Amino acid sequence: MARTARAGLEPAPGELRILQALANTAAVGGESEHLTDPQALARLLTDEKLLDRGVELTADDLQRVIAFRDGLRDLFLVNSGAAFSGRVRDRLNELVQGVPMRLSFVDQGAIRVEPSSEGFDEVVGRLLGIVAQAQVDGVWRRLKVCVDSECRRTFYDRSKGVTTVWCMKRCTNRHHARKRRRRQGVSTQPDRQRPSGAAPSKPRRIR
Ligand SMILES: [Zn+2]
Repeated sequence: MARTARAGLEPAPGELRILQALANTAAVGGESEHLTDPQALARLLTDEKLLDRGVELTADDLQRVIAFRDGLRDLFLVNSGAAFSGRVRDRLNELVQGVPMRLSFVDQGAIRVEPSSEGFDEVVGRLLGIVAQAQVDGVWRRLKVCVDSECRRTFYDRSKGVTTVWCMKRCTNRHHARKRRRRQGVSTQPDRQRPSGAAPSKPRRIR
């Protein structure tokens, strides 16, 4: 959350801000990896009330969450126009298989997906529940990774047509400036570093 706010990004609504905060712990926007040890992960999860204070996490827990986070970021990039990769799907399925979940009816007859597990599986289950709820609510496609190769922050697209692929004005301007330079035949170093799949108008494989 802290990083999302520091970048000047508006947090995603409700529990989606937790997915956004997790995604933005990656090395994005010129910042380095935030989840460098289990303690950093524990702090993030207790801040988001997904973990009780004082619970110690292991290096395995950290690796699992980082892999899950990176899978989510790949999906957010798909929401920004990149092609969907079966490899990302398989990797995510491997990570979440065996996490016990349960369905229950809540207010107004809406269905809710919740973890029915203990220990760290419950934390992963809570994150999965948020993903499932966002898909049920139809807001999942609004969570995107900024297509600017120097940014890559996760943002929530509030535009009416869900068409924005840059997290803020600064990134849009940078894109137009590069396009202008390209037209004028000037070398554009950052664009050469752009991972495949980032171009919004021409989707390609993520990896
Ligand atoms: Zn951006």
